[in-house]
Amino acid sequence: MTNVKPYVYDLTLEEWQNWVKENSEPAFRAGQIFDWLYVKRVSDFDQMTNLSKGLRDKLQAQFEFVTLTEVAKYESKDGTVKFLFELSDKNAIETVVMKHGYGNSVCVTTQVGCRIGCTFCASTLGGLMRDLTAGEIIAQIVKAQQLLDSKNERVSSIVVMGIGEPFENYDALMKFLKVMIHPKGLNIGQRHITVSTSGIVPNIYRFADEDTQINLAISIHAPNDALRSKLMPVNKRFPFADLIEACKYYTGKTGRRITFEYALMGTVNDQAEHAEELSQVLKQLPMSHVNLIPVNYVQERKFVRTSRDDIFNFQRILEKNRINATIRREQGSDIAAACGQLRAKHENQKKRRSNEVTTIEDGKSN
Ligand code: SF4
Repeated sequence: MTNVKPYVYDLTLEEWQNWVKENSEPAFRAGQIFDWLYVKRVSDFDQMTNLSKGLRDKLQAQFEFVTLTEVAKYESKDGTVKFLFELSDKNAIETVVMKHGYGNSVCVTTQVGCRIGCTFCASTLGGLMRDLTAGEIIAQIVKAQQLLDSKNERVSSIVVMGIGEPFENYDALMKFLKVMIHPKGLNIGQRHITVSTSGIVPNIYRFADEDTQINLAISIHAPNDALRSKLMPVNKRFPFADLIEACKYYTGKTGRRITFEYALMGTVNDQAEHAEELSQVLKQLPMSHVNLIPVNYVQERKFVRTSRDDIFNFQRILEKNRINATIRREQGSDIAAACGQLRAKHENQKKRRSNEVTTIEDGKSN
């Protein structure tokens, strides 16, 4: 992390209330600051015109706005817009705005890179660089909302499914969610937010105990321990049986269904016997829903896509076993919108450029 001062978006409303108190300002100032940040969405302290000059100076001295520099913006034929942003430390992250019939959803990044190592994912290729702060996650939504402001539209749902494992950046994630759902913040309905985890078991328990209405998705991708460990090394840390136990706890505690993400990889996990085995596992969990995702092509990975017929067959087997299953509508496939693909490309280009510079400099000194 390179920011010296905290970001303005790093604070929840309660933290702003404490801050104004500590700074001998009247309590209502916290609400005013929050309003400037999330309702009026200003990007400069001087625009907060109902605050005194002294207070604005204090804010300026103690906080900074998140800088998300737009490195690239790709627009798909289907209306999906994918941003590649550079943070103040030059690390790149991705944010995707997707247009649906029911509104706009935004997919946010929670970490720079990822250490989970799923074998089919581009986001993990360079490992984990660092966690994002809550403010850096929030800034992605504010940017997306600023984009939509020009069309008089709003962010209606959020999926925390971008680069990174949100449950490995748990405190920042929870702060982000608090600001998103706050009626004086972005005011997004809790049921319109989904957090997806690769299965960080202790934090599934923790999340179940948070008492929210926010949806949980689990990237399961295999119907048993052995295959899941091959595809997702996290399964060695938190074995399949423990994951299923945590899911049972979650559904028992919250009464909410879990969505299981299942990326279909040709011949690896997409056969009829896999669908049968998955059905038997999920029968233990009431109301389970499976989201079938044809795997994205990643140059460095060699998985093949499952054929359409096999995808439908997989879905039929689940449904025959009374497990709800949908096939995820692919969005932005013409702009490499799958998680981590643009960032990986950007990082490779950066590396190539820096190698070229090194080669030229080496050439000079020789
Ligand atoms: S799928 Fe998610 S958890 Fe797995 S490596 Fe990619 S970003 Fe990390």
